[in-house]
Order: sequence, then structure tokens, then C-alpha cells
Amino acid sequence: MLDLENKIVVITGGTRGIGLEVARSFAKEKAKVIIFGSKKESVDKALATLSDEGLKAEGYFPNLNNYNEIEEVIHKVIAEYGQIDVLINNAGISANKKIEDTTSEDFESVMDLNVNAMFNVTKAVVPYMKEQKEGVILNTSSMVSIYGQPSGVGYPASKFAVNGLTKSLARELAPFNIRVNAVAPGIIKTDMVASLPKEMIEPLIKTIPLGRIGEPKDIANAFLFLASPMASYITGIILQVDGAARN
Ligand code: NAD
Repeated sequence: MLDLENKIVVITGGTRGIGLEVARSFAKEKAKVIIFGSKKESVDKALATLSDEGLKAEGYFPNLNNYNEIEEVIHKVIAEYGQIDVLINNAGISANKKIEDTTSEDFESVMDLNVNAMFNVTKAVVPYMKEQKEGVILNTSSMVSIYGQPSGVGYPASKFAVNGLTKSLARELAPFNIRVNAVAPGIIKTDMVASLPKEMIEPLIKTIPLGRIGEPKDIANAFLFLASPMASYITGIILQVDGAARN
């Protein structure tokens, strides 16, 4: 029904957490999955995990802030498969310091991965999708892109930018039959959340009407839907998958 078999799917930040679950979910649908991670060891570990589950994927570890490296890797994927059907820009880091403690380097490092890297990978893939006359680009946003958050201002700022990029590119690329959407997760059980202080997480859980933290699979399901032809008339949306959390 999802019709994702043999689709060529590139996922950044696919080595753990949400990205690994997204990779797993697309591989289960028999898509050809290519994950990008930050280093060889984490990519190898993720591929071994998937392989132990009987799932196939391959991986690369380009520096997402180096456009030439990305172009080279995208070129390799195209040389191997001939096309890229779905790009999932998922790599991201969070921030939680108060503004007085945030250095400009802290702020820039969040923007570099969450926004600039997303721009770089998208820019490298779009010419191929235009040539194919179809494609799907999906970005990982966050519920903080709707409400902001009370510290770590670089993180919500970056996710507001992700939404801007998503909505604008949806309009720019629609004439080429390229759909661009984002998924905005709420609080999801991954390392990123585990690294946040308890004082920050517990009050947040109390505000979730569905009464639980989300699972990576909750997010992967949204990506599967948005990548599939079932979403063929959906572009430019920020799909909130957050149990109605409103923070
Ligand atoms: P995670 O820390 O478990 O995974 C992050 C992924 O990004 C990893 O695969 C890692 O390899 C990759 N990554 C980190 N730094 C990188 C770099 N410099 N270059 C390339 N890749 C790099 O986090 P997660 O919770 O799975 O987060 C995935 C996405 O979901 C992020 O964009 C995050 O902002 C977003 N998100 C997460 C939550 C949550 O509650 N977990 C909520 C909202 C949004």
C-alpha cells in the first residue's frame, strides 16, 4: 500500500534514534536505504544492527557542512542507483543552555547542522530530482518550531528555519513534481532526549495530553506516509507528531 519498494531513500543522521528507526522502517518496506552519519564507526554500527535484523542498507559519512563532500557522495549514489526518490534531512543536534551561557560558536554549531547541512544536502539532490521530474524531500523539524523553548535558543531558531526552508522549497519545487514536507516530533525516546536534564523533561511529559513520550516508530510512520504516494497531494506542511504536546 505504501508503494515504497525499490525507492532510493537517503537519510541523514540515520545511525541512531529517529533516523535509524526511519532507515529500518523504509528497509522493511523494501526501499533501498542509504544512511549518512557523522563517522565511519557509527555508520558501520547502524548497518550491522540493520543487517542483524535481516535488513539491507548502505552508508556514507560525508561532512554535511562541506558541500563538495556531499556532492561527491550524492554523485556516488546516483552512479549506483541512477536516481534518488526520497531525501530525508534528519541529522540534528539540540541545545539547552541559557542565552548568557551560549557562545556564538554554540549557536553556530546548531545552525550549521540543523539548517546549513539541510540546505547543502538538499541543494545537491534537487538537480537530480528535477531531472527525474519527481521526488520527495522530508525534513525533521520539532515541536519547538511552533512554540519555541525556554532555553537553548539556537535549537528552536534552527527548527523555525527548517520550517521556512520546507514551506518555501515546497513552493519553488512543486512545478517539478517534487514534494517538500517536514515532520515536527514532540518528545521522542532517543539519546537526544536522554541527554537533557530531568528537570527539563519531566515537566514536559506532564503537558502531553496523550500521556506518554513518543517512540521513534511514531515518527518513522509519519515519514513513511509522507514519502508514499498516499501523500501525493501534500506539500509544504509541517506535520506535528507530538501527542498534542503544546510547549
Ligand atoms: P540522536 O542524537 O539520537 O541522533 C542524531 C543523528 O544525527 C545521529 O544519527 C547522528 O549521527 C546525526 N548527527 C549528529 N551530529 C552530526 C553531524 N555533525 N553530522 C552528521 N550527522 C550528525 O537524535 P534524535 O532524537 O534521533 O534526533 C533526530 C532528529 O529529530 C534531529 O533533527 C532532532 O532535532 C529531531 N527531533 C528530535 C526530538 C526528540 O525528542 N528526540 C524531538 C524533536 C525533533
